[in-house]
Amino acid sequence: MQTPISRDHTAELDLKDPIARFREQFLLPAGVIYLDGNSLGPLPATAASRIEQVVRREWGSGLVRSWNDAGWIDLPERVAAKIAPLIGAAADEVMVADSTSVNIFKLLAAALKLRPERRVILSVEENFGTDLYVAEGLAHHLAGDVELRLVPNRDVESALTADVAVLMLTHVDFRSGEMHELKAVTAAAHAAGALVLWDLAHSAGAVEVELDAWEVDFAVGCGYKYLNGGPGAPAFAFVARRHHDVLESPLWGWMGHSAAFDFNPSYDPAPGVKRLRVGTPPVLSLAALECGVETIAAVGVENLREKSIALTELFIALVNQECGGFGFDLASPVEASKRGSQVSFRHEDGYAIVQALISEGVIGDFRAPDILRFGLCPAYIRFVDVWEAVSTLRRIMIDRGWDRPEFRVQARVT
Ligand SMILES: *Cc1c(COP(=O)(O)O)cnc(C)c1O
Repeated sequence: MQTPISRDHTAELDLKDPIARFREQFLLPAGVIYLDGNSLGPLPATAASRIEQVVRREWGSGLVRSWNDAGWIDLPERVAAKIAPLIGAAADEVMVADSTSVNIFKLLAAALKLRPERRVILSVEENFGTDLYVAEGLAHHLAGDVELRLVPNRDVESALTADVAVLMLTHVDFRSGEMHELKAVTAAAHAAGALVLWDLAHSAGAVEVELDAWEVDFAVGCGYKYLNGGPGAPAFAFVARRHHDVLESPLWGWMGHSAAFDFNPSYDPAPGVKRLRVGTPPVLSLAALECGVETIAAVGVENLREKSIALTELFIALVNQECGGFGFDLASPVEASKRGSQVSFRHEDGYAIVQALISEGVIGDFRAPDILRFGLCPAYIRFVDVWEAVSTLRRIMIDRGWDRPEFRVQARVT
């Protein structure tokens, strides 16, 4: 029999961890083990003073002059250039603008324009709500001309028929953390004549993605999850350079015009991804996002992935060791190469258990109908945190501390 994993062993892993020092780059509250950075990344140590500077100096003193003097007008490009290496893209293939939802709309519409003879958006039933709603809404808006076709995950490749214009998938499943084989699925879509749009909401800043090398057409992703850009941070959008000249966004705004301040009566798109800009950029949010992206980029994608795998492996092993017999079913892939930076379990009392954990300072989240989800962000989670989280879970299960009416009251945001 294997020797059980001890707390001391996890403390040793922290001592040997080559990226342990990056934890100091985040302001984490005392007494909290934060396993929800895949929903809202924590506050980077640089963000508060940077935002204060933007507010007081650039806005307060600089006023409207700061659009030029403080470089506000180029902030979306500047932050995009810092995101690009995290996703294997060139700086001029990425734009920061709007929300992930809005960027999905823009890029789906653009993809449909590039395949006018094909009228199907293909996606999976398991995909995230907003991705499906945006596609459904776009198809509805186009009044029957375009169909959103949903298949189960396992049927994606066989559903790539000759009428599919674009395959839209989320790389890391938000419930289970299961990863699609981005490169292989992209190649299969291309072989079938379709374009691909990948949602990297749970990938960017956590797992390796090589958009250029893997010949991805379009991608989007969130600023406030593993990129730590703060609540409601703007999102990013990627378009492969080969599509730049023919890229047509359905949202034509002045910030995406080739000469916004000429105020011409008609639209002339700016080159490449610059035309994905629509309205005035959210400067305060972009300043925070820049801090978040710089902080995570400093760790390095390979380092992040290596530690992320070690953390998720440890989490699964410890739940098996400490919480066997309490009814937890692993909802994430057993194989590390198929798993993103989270571990999910199914449990019929999942909601109440998550609330009890939160009341004990272990913050994870719940995803309907029965998923307990734990994000393990390698830049600041320690191996010993995993130990403490699982022993708290064990204690709650043994004393049934979760079984209280207040833990069953469903909040608006889970
Ligand atoms: C978090 C998430 C989003 C969020 O989209 P917003 O427009 O920022 O609300 C979209 N897609 C996926 C897969 C997500 O996980």
